[in-house]
Amino acid sequence: MNSRRQVRCNGCKQWNFTEDTQGQCLHCGNELFPKSKADEESLLRRQQAWNLNIVIHPDDSLLVRMVKKVANVVQLVFLAIISFIMWLIAMSPG
Ligand SMILES: [Zn+2]
Repeated sequence: MNSRRQVRCNGCKQWNFTEDTQGQCLHCGNELFPKSKADEESLLRRQQAWNLNIVIHPDDSLLVRMVKKVANVVQLVFLAIISFIMWLIAMSPG
C-alpha cells in the first residue's frame, strides 16, 4: 500500500524518493513538483477576486465602516446573482 515513488529532480537530475505530490529535492532543494501555469493563474485570479472586497481600516469612522460594509454586502449579493445566472445558463438544455 506504500505509494513511495522515485522522482527525478529537474535541477540536479538526482533521484528522490517521495510519498506525496509536493516536496523539495533532497540534494539541491529544487521544487520537485513545480506548479503548472494554469494552477498559478487560477490562484492569482482567485486572489484578485478576494482583493475586490473593500478593506475596512480600524481607524475608519463608524459611518465609513458602515458604508464599506454595505458596499461589500451589495458586491457579494451581486456576485451571487451573477453566479446564479451563470449556473442557470450552464443547466439550461442546449
Ligand atoms: Zn535536485
